[in-house]
Amino acid sequence: MVTLDRAQKSFGGVPVLRDISLSVASGEVVAIIGPSGGGKSTLLRCLTLLERLDAGDLSYGEVEVSRSGSYADKATLARARERFGLVFQNYNLFPHFSVLRNVMDAPVCVQKRGRAQAEADARALLDKMGLSGCEEKVPCQLSGGQQQRASIARALAMNPQVMFFDEPTSALDPELTAEVLRVIKNLAAEDMTMVIVTHEMSFAREVADRVVFMDGGVIVEEGLATQVIEHPREARTQAFLAQRE
Ligand code: ADP
Ligand code: MG
Repeated sequence: MVTLDRAQKSFGGVPVLRDISLSVASGEVVAIIGPSGGGKSTLLRCLTLLERLDAGDLSYGEVEVSRSGSYADKATLARARERFGLVFQNYNLFPHFSVLRNVMDAPVCVQKRGRAQAEADARALLDKMGLSGCEEKVPCQLSGGQQQRASIARALAMNPQVMFFDEPTSALDPELTAEVLRVIKNLAAEDMTMVIVTHEMSFAREVADRVVFMDGGVIVEEGLATQVIEHPREARTQAFLAQRE
């Protein structure tokens, strides 16, 4: 579904991603863990074309985005962008749009889906996210957890093949965190392909098929969730997990 090979990225001459390779298969859930500053967000921003790689190959299925850091034309990048959805730490909803309009805006304006169909799809997604009754509210009338679930609905409305989450719960209180993690867990049960940067170790262990531990711009260790979280092999992974207990 997504293949990244030997990715490199520097900011002002400082390397942030050093030779990262990561493939995600259809239906797979990958959790990325690691200390702050390790390059997790940069990795997600490069995967979602918000940043450009300096070197490395990136493709979405047959759509080749970058070869050795040389990027495809605009039309090809637009095709790649249709493949994924992205949810950040801070919801990023349009503050002046209703929740419903937030979810149906891109399907109508970008995908040119019929308004009636887009609205029906948006209402169904909001219901699935536990947000029926919130359609006509504006984001500031919702709790942080509700806003984050609306952001997830908005990303899903574009029918992505893979969803990326960058610390989706780190701005939330514990009880609001639980409701967001629950909807992500439900997506995993439906075989949604997902890459999730998270500090929630028990969630990662429960939901992820594979866990990737990143530190200092490299993948230090990766493997089955139970292996990496319960029996880490590398000293740096052990130290990171011990600190979080
Ligand atoms: P993480 O998400 O694991 O905390 P980041 O990818 O945010 O790590 O950051 C990795 C490193 O890259 C940090 O040292 C950070 O300061 C640096 N960095 C990230 N984005 C930028 C940027 N746009 N300009 C300069 N430095 C950046
Ligand atoms: Mg980050």
